[in-house]
Amino acid sequence: MNYYKLIIKELIKKRIKNSSDLAVFKRQVSKRYKILTPSNIQLLKAYHELTKKKRIKKSKIIEELLKTRPVRSLSGIVNISVLTKPYPCPGKCIYCPLENGFPKSYLSGEPAAERAKALGFNPYFQTKQRIKMLRETGHPTDKIDLRIIGGTWSYYPKNYQTRFIKRCFDACNNKISKNLIQAQKLNESAKHRIIGLSVETRPDFIDKAEIKRLRNLGVTKVELGVQSVYDNILKMNLRGHKIKDTIKATKLLKNTGFKVSYQVMPNLLGSTPKKDIEMMKTIFSDEKFKPDLIKIYPCALVKEAPLYELYKKGKYKPYSLKVLIKILCEIKKEIPYYTRIERIIRDIPSPRIIKGPVKVSNLREVVKKEMKEKNWECKCIRCREIKEKYDPREKIYLFRNDYNASGAKEIFLSFENKKRNKLYSLLRLRIPSSDKPVLSVLKNVALIREIHTYGQLVPISVKGTSAQHKGLGKKLIKQAEYIVKKEFKIKKIAAISAVGVRNYWKKFNYKLKDTYMVKSLH
Ligand code: SF4
Ligand SMILES: [Zn+2]
Repeated sequence: MNYYKLIIKELIKKRIKNSSDLAVFKRQVSKRYKILTPSNIQLLKAYHELTKKKRIKKSKIIEELLKTRPVRSLSGIVNISVLTKPYPCPGKCIYCPLENGFPKSYLSGEPAAERAKALGFNPYFQTKQRIKMLRETGHPTDKIDLRIIGGTWSYYPKNYQTRFIKRCFDACNNKISKNLIQAQKLNESAKHRIIGLSVETRPDFIDKAEIKRLRNLGVTKVELGVQSVYDNILKMNLRGHKIKDTIKATKLLKNTGFKVSYQVMPNLLGSTPKKDIEMMKTIFSDEKFKPDLIKIYPCALVKEAPLYELYKKGKYKPYSLKVLIKILCEIKKEIPYYTRIERIIRDIPSPRIIKGPVKVSNLREVVKKEMKEKNWECKCIRCREIKEKYDPREKIYLFRNDYNASGAKEIFLSFENKKRNKLYSLLRLRIPSSDKPVLSVLKNVALIREIHTYGQLVPISVKGTSAQHKGLGKKLIKQAEYIVKKEFKIKKIAAISAVGVRNYWKKFNYKLKDTYMVKSLH
């Protein structure tokens, strides 16, 4: 049954005209039909099918309403997630579901998983289809942030990994290359450039050899399954690694320029609300952690995971919604300026969850409201990103936050408004420690681990566009180079660059060396 078509017809009848009413309506229908909240893309597709078959009349209001939020591609970048094939995982984590036909930890009914399965987990077709879908819904697809998801990436056979990524590149290049290197080269000037590439893996799989591999594949960001910073909790949940593995992986990754994202899991077996809050405080106060991004996935109790047996015996209890909201508010108020909270809940279809607060699909909004009532603020990057509030006339300032992380100095540079609640652009700079670098190309070299400018797509017709908003990326690079040379007397700087951004760096005289874009500062 195509629920989306039914929903469209209902939407027309209800005469919904604004996005907040649409959000309420979508939640109601998803509950009623027991499906995940439909995305605007899915509904727009159903709408186009219905108008094509002349079942409904074209409606400007509906088209405007469903046009996916401009936020998504405001900086001209779109996200594409591609799922790997079902494959065993070395982990035995008790909360992790296993369902036939899906990679470990993924369940049927999850939108990304369903899409991938329908395409036989083929990376080429998955990438192609997402590009097509995004284009059809009016998004630019020239800059793609590619995210590879599914199980433990590093455990997949090496030739599968190489082929998988090559096929993603092929799809973006619209051409089949002979090998990965050729596909990467082609992507430097392709129509759909990969400007960021991430994989998810376990901390105990990160070592020097893996780092080299990841760089050769073109990876720029690694999502680490950290889950907890307490060894006893990791042990109780059969994670199979210790906290020292997380510390080591974080350091290796940062020292080679990767962006590091943590997945952490409140409400694990053996934890308490107090411990979870403490854990987050540790993550941001202890220099051994301090991730650039974080995903908070509260443990979700599902039948397909061994934890369910413990729950039945009364040995595990999910938090109440009230408790979880309290924890998330406490966590959010601790987040420093340099970290981005990517998610606070995983998109698991709510009928699959046995019990617990993770059933609430609009948790982020609920938490936001609660924070507002308490007069608390989340300072994370995501909450400050300028998005649709972009005002080209706003006066912006250069900020600098220095902090120590994993044995070296990090400098976070950003352009923001005076109050620091609107972020226009950021750069992460790492000053190397005296440690011997993993890769010889990085010897005595400062690293630019990230550069990002939000809200570049200002309509040309906007009058009074402030000159200071032009070329923010370039200004940040110049500032970073100045700091490296003048303050730290370092003669070389390197940027970890996704394949599709190499040409950008060339404009500033950076040259490809090994897999980095390097510049001598004389
Ligand atoms: S390592 Fe990840 S995918 Fe593997 S069992 Fe643990 S949580 Fe699941
Ligand atoms: Zn935030």
